[in-house]
Amino acid sequence: MALSFTRQDTTTTPTAEIEKVLADPGFGVNFTDHMATATWSADQGWHDGALENYHPFDLDPGVAVFHYGQEIFEGLKAYRWSDGSIWVFRPEMNARRFQRSAQRMELPVLDEADFLASIDALITADAAWVPSADEMSLYVRPFLFASESFLGVRSSNVVQYAAIASPAAPYFEGGIGGVDIWVTTTYSRVGSGGTGAAKCGGNYAASLIAQNEGARHGCAQVLFTDAATHTWIEELGGMNFFVVTADDRLLTPPTSGTILEGITRDSILTLAPEIGLAPEEKPLTLDEVLAGIVDGEITEAFACGTAAVVTPIRSLRREVEGHDEDVVLTHSFGPKTAKIRQTLVDIQWGRTPDRHEWMRRIA
Ligand SMILES: *Cc1c(COP(=O)(O)O)cnc(C)c1O
Repeated sequence: MALSFTRQDTTTTPTAEIEKVLADPGFGVNFTDHMATATWSADQGWHDGALENYHPFDLDPGVAVFHYGQEIFEGLKAYRWSDGSIWVFRPEMNARRFQRSAQRMELPVLDEADFLASIDALITADAAWVPSADEMSLYVRPFLFASESFLGVRSSNVVQYAAIASPAAPYFEGGIGGVDIWVTTTYSRVGSGGTGAAKCGGNYAASLIAQNEGARHGCAQVLFTDAATHTWIEELGGMNFFVVTADDRLLTPPTSGTILEGITRDSILTLAPEIGLAPEEKPLTLDEVLAGIVDGEITEAFACGTAAVVTPIRSLRREVEGHDEDVVLTHSFGPKTAKIRQTLVDIQWGRTPDRHEWMRRIA
């Protein structure tokens, strides 16, 4: 039976206070008035769908997520168009990925319709929190975690679903000028047969040490290579990786279990031919990419994901014989990267026809 996310109360922040937050929302620091919730248990299945005031969870210290990290999440954005209407971008892709992540982490699968209903209910209730300023959006974060209090190691018999929302400015401040990326060959994010294709908190926990290593070397983000050989480029901690060649090819490694199937990645591969780029999912070695940048065959590189959209890459930085070495791209924010970014955000903000029927109207 379908869950219903019925609004249970009507508390909302006064408009003036919302406006104050929306004037400078940051990323992921301010939360809206409501949250969608539902519970799953082994004996009752999914039940108790609700739309409640945003509130802390009351959790027993013994619940499994605190100990074994059985958890997944999603991230998508709601956009306010110039006519005031509110839209989300390809949310059914998030719903399906949430199901695949759940299967990998032995969590219960939430119906696509229930996932979409929870998001609709949340965004509708918190419509006043969807910013209208340029480049700003409402970031929606659905998540699912093991909430049974039990220290034995097995998949949890009780699971909590929730979706929360946070108004968002562009993720990287000044990121449009191009970021330096740290290439780690010390640490791995995931390995073959592991959880790389699942959007789970554990992957992020495992990436933080490399991210901090990168930060010590002045980099905002880390590029991971394959765990077995540190030869093949995979992706960043939370974004997929692309390069653009001088002869207009757009290359990204194939997602074969260790790379997250990004919705932004998929959208860019789909849009590429429309803007004169030949997309190719092709395994890329770190060496060939570095050499390609040096000899001018690769002219642009960028990272992509929902939070940061398209983040241009200025250089790849790594340690060579004890000191940092930068391999600098021809363009820190190249014309083709700019075109890809513009094409995508124009669809998201309704400034161009939505030929692929990617946008779903919420309000
Ligand atoms: C979420 C995520 C991405 C980007 O996916 P989008 O669907 O484009 O937001 C890329 N890599 C990792 C590891 C992620 O968790």
